[in-house]
Amino acid sequence: MNQRIAQHKHCRTCGKAFVGEGRYCSETCERSNEETLRKKKRQLLILYLVSVLIMIGAVVLSVM
Ligand SMILES: [Zn+2]
Repeated sequence: MNQRIAQHKHCRTCGKAFVGEGRYCSETCERSNEETLRKKKRQLLILYLVSVLIMIGAVVLSVM
């Protein structure tokens, strides 16, 4: 009875329970999760660039 619970996994994208290898229930979920991660990375990069620009702006303003 417990074996069944131990063997199934939850998909990282849709949260559905599935049996098998990997972290996703299907290739579609794997791909869409990769896309989400890529978007998040880009958002972080933009956030980083914006904060750097703000810092540079603050330094320039304090010098002037
Ligand atoms: Zn899924």
